[in-house]
Amino acid sequence: SADEHLREASPVRRDDLPVHGLSETVVGVLGGGQLGRMLCQAASQMAIKVIVLDPLENCPASSISNYHMVGSFDDGATVQEFAKRCGVLTVEIEHVDVGTLEKLEQQGVDCQPKASTIRIIQDKYRQKVHFSQHAIPLPEFMQIDDLESAKRAGDLFGYPLMIKSKRLAYDGRGNAVAKSEVELSSAVTALGGYEHGLYIEKWAPFVKELAVIVARGRDNSILCYPVVETIHKENICHIVKAPADVPWKIRRLATDVAYKAVSSLEGAGVFAVEMFLTIDGQILLNEVAPRPHNSGHHTIESCYTSQFEQHLRAVVGLPLGDPSMKTPAAIMYNLLGEDEGEAGFSLANKLIGKALSIPGASVHWYDKPEMRKQRKMGHITIVGPSMGIVEARLHSMLGEESVDDQ
Ligand code: ATP
Ligand code: MG
Ligand code: MG
Repeated sequence: SADEHLREASPVRRDDLPVHGLSETVVGVLGGGQLGRMLCQAASQMAIKVIVLDPLENCPASSISNYHMVGSFDDGATVQEFAKRCGVLTVEIEHVDVGTLEKLEQQGVDCQPKASTIRIIQDKYRQKVHFSQHAIPLPEFMQIDDLESAKRAGDLFGYPLMIKSKRLAYDGRGNAVAKSEVELSSAVTALGGYEHGLYIEKWAPFVKELAVIVARGRDNSILCYPVVETIHKENICHIVKAPADVPWKIRRLATDVAYKAVSSLEGAGVFAVEMFLTIDGQILLNEVAPRPHNSGHHTIESCYTSQFEQHLRAVVGLPLGDPSMKTPAAIMYNLLGEDEGEAGFSLANKLIGKALSIPGASVHWYDKPEMRKQRKMGHITIVGPSMGIVEARLHSMLGEESVDDQ
């Protein structure tokens, strides 16, 4: 078909053209979801070429990338083939075939961030071991191999506790809470059993969750975005408030922890550091993502340089941009699938319809081929002159009375 012809023809045609963008480096992204899509949007502004590798024919990044190779980012041969087409290889998801990345690096392929970073991060337990070795504060944790070791962790950490899959976790899939010893077995079963690779984390009694996007350039310069508050619903990021409403001392501490965490990893790009703030003012690291992140979506409208532009600048070797906010306050609201299929689309449409008439609101729709419950389908960012005003705009969009009106 004509479509297939275009897909086949475009990489050849475009790669042969002289490049006149801000960088001549073709950026290859493993994964073509919403993060890949927003990377492509930022790249387009700078005329930087981005190609994506994703198994889904109509993945969110497909229609706006310079080229979409349909294939698995978890398959060695495919990643190797894809790498031939790009000047620098980066990721929008950490669950990629890291063995191949390591091999490619040895052959001289430029991976940013480094394969060593992906290796550490894609296994949450390994990640915890790494950060504890670097004296970064985190909830206590322990690997479990059977009911005996799980009970031992329970005796040590108390209940409730969090059981986590070491690998392939996202949006809370891979986490299970055990409120008491009797719940250990069912929680382990829900996660696929011990052979799945599990560990236990002590419950973090947080008052807020905070996040910091940290960018590192190829020259090793590091810049931190303002601290944000992330609010999760059923383990899924739901709302992000920028900047976080916490004392400056906490902001400084969170920024220091994030800076230190990213400094212990190798390679260029943006990283997201998720943290817990406890009642006694401690910051504990939750996890790090080696890529743009949901907690940084607000930067598109609220910061001088968005996390997506920053990531591209970082991996191609341009100077990093200003991460500071150009608007006093921003709230990002995730559009999560509320129902399957058409019913879900119609609910999302209602909210989008309202958002379109809210001052300072920008609607992002990822164009995912299927609507599913709890799936991230899009997001809305509202900016404004103060957090109070932005909150009032959010309440009005959601059809809730604002607290001040009650
Ligand atoms: P993401 O989509 O951010 O990658 P994930 O699936 O990797 O999520 P985590 O970040 O480990 O999951 O946990 C999801 C949420 O569960 C956290 O944001 C937090 O709200 C809660 N949580 C995780 N670990 C703990 C803990 N040790 N104590 C209390 N709550 C926790
Ligand atoms: Mg995670
Ligand atoms: Mg997380």
